[in-house]
Amino acid sequence: MVPERSPLRLVPDPVPEPTAAPRAPRTLGAVELVPGRVRAAVLTMSGTVLDRAEAAYDAAGATPADIDTALARAAAVFAGHAPVGIGVAAAGLVDPAAGLITEVNDVPALHGYPVTERLYALTGVPVRVEHRARLQVLGDRWFGAGRGRRTFASVSTGEVLGVGILYDGDVLAPPGGRSGAHMTVSASGDPCTCGGRGCWKTVATTRWLRARARAAGLGPDVSLGALVERDDAPARRTVAEYAENLALGLVNVQQLFAPGLFVLHGEAREGGERFRSLIEERLRADVASAGAERPRVLVSSATEDDGALLGGAGLVLSHL
Ligand SMILES: [Zn+2]
Repeated sequence: MVPERSPLRLVPDPVPEPTAAPRAPRTLGAVELVPGRVRAAVLTMSGTVLDRAEAAYDAAGATPADIDTALARAAAVFAGHAPVGIGVAAAGLVDPAAGLITEVNDVPALHGYPVTERLYALTGVPVRVEHRARLQVLGDRWFGAGRGRRTFASVSTGEVLGVGILYDGDVLAPPGGRSGAHMTVSASGDPCTCGGRGCWKTVATTRWLRARARAAGLGPDVSLGALVERDDAPARRTVAEYAENLALGLVNVQQLFAPGLFVLHGEAREGGERFRSLIEERLRADVASAGAERPRVLVSSATEDDGALLGGAGLVLSHL
């Protein structure tokens, strides 16, 4: 009797890992490139940082060769880990399709810098680049509160304000698109740094909060955390107004894209549960939820320092 096993193997052997060290666990690579500093990290597939390195350079005076040197020093962390890919979170203007940093204010050497080509030459693994603010949503999508979702929004609060949207699995990043800080929320509002008036940024950043607290007699340079702790009537009013102002921008985003979930990063964490629920209540009150998921607001527990690196690692996972 012929054994049932066919001499032709229809199921191929599993393809071995394309790495020098086949038994090493799979890892992700991430690089953050900002004026004056390059950080690199090796992360597990679930986003735990295993190893990291950092190199500084002189932002204003560096030549492209100096950037190469700093990049090589930071990228030394990848040796021996063989990550499946590297995601670069870059400041400034970025051309992801070409793998270039187009322009970074105050860093002439990064003008047209071919960061993916340089890193590929150093490591031999696939490299992608995106603007760092846009990557926060991918960090959340793979490792944070947005895990497993195909549509949601990630929000930076504090000194920097902005929204990144994952829509049906893709980061909304049209050429020339911005982060929402300059959406007009008040036609006759205060002048903004952009030259416009009444931008979201003029009423929903730390700068506004400090000015409002000072005007209310709550002292100079008061933080959101201090106001929440203080908990008297003027402090409560200021905190509530700040939450409402933040919600203004989110209401607009919900109206247009119905992301359903908003993950807040940065200063919002200082605001605690009351601040979070004020924003969520306003969002729910202002947006008809018929046909859409009822909007929710969560506050990220991630260490903000690693937000860009998690985003870079998420960029790798998104393209595997
Ligand atoms: Zn503006």
